[in-house]
Amino acid sequence: MSFLPPIVLSSRNKKKIGEIAELMAPHGVELIGVESFPHVPEVDEDGDSFAANAAKKATEVAKSLGAWVIAEDSGLCVDALGGAPGIYSARYAGEQGADAANNQKLLSELANVPTEKRTAYYVCYAVLSDPTGVIRLEAEGRCGGRILTDYHGSNGFGYDPLFLVPEYHQTFGQLNAAVKRHISHRAKAFERLIPRIVSLFG
Ligand code: IMP
Repeated sequence: MSFLPPIVLSSRNKKKIGEIAELMAPHGVELIGVESFPHVPEVDEDGDSFAANAAKKATEVAKSLGAWVIAEDSGLCVDALGGAPGIYSARYAGEQGADAANNQKLLSELANVPTEKRTAYYVCYAVLSDPTGVIRLEAEGRCGGRILTDYHGSNGFGYDPLFLVPEYHQTFGQLNAAVKRHISHRAKAFERLIPRIVSLFG
């Protein structure tokens, strides 16, 4: 019999929180969003990798609350741009979380890049911190695709309307949420992390 303590999710991105909550729900993990604790300060994502940023988001909140905390850092890496926007995905065009401006910048950076060279992948790095701020589990997931030259669909968030998943002939903006939940970088990272969380408390 396993005892799963409530776990805080260190993210204020509502779309991300929704995707992660749906991935965790079937496993009986109770997730509490960090926005339920208004006194917890925002974490400055100044790490030099997805792993460093995820660890920082998890451990700072864990120490501040004395709670188990899950955090993830994710982004889009475009081959023709040397992996950019990468860890800067959320603020590629300058302002944090400005999806429309980020997408416009991506399109203009790729303006002269032909179809076959527009390959990209999403990365998600997910971690679990214990209440003392020690990372106990970590997992990475990736999802490959291609950046289109215009927008398709309005599902998902961020770069999803430009991110074609070749196997499905549709962007993440067109695919329904259940399909994204199955094949995304976030799904792959959490598929690896969740069984290990369950056995940690087993
Ligand atoms: P973070 O909140 O610092 O991890 O930044 C994540 C950023 O990466 C988002 O703001 C998006 O720009 C991008 N991103 C990560 N995952 C996704 C996704 O599933 N769809 C679209 N964009 C994503």
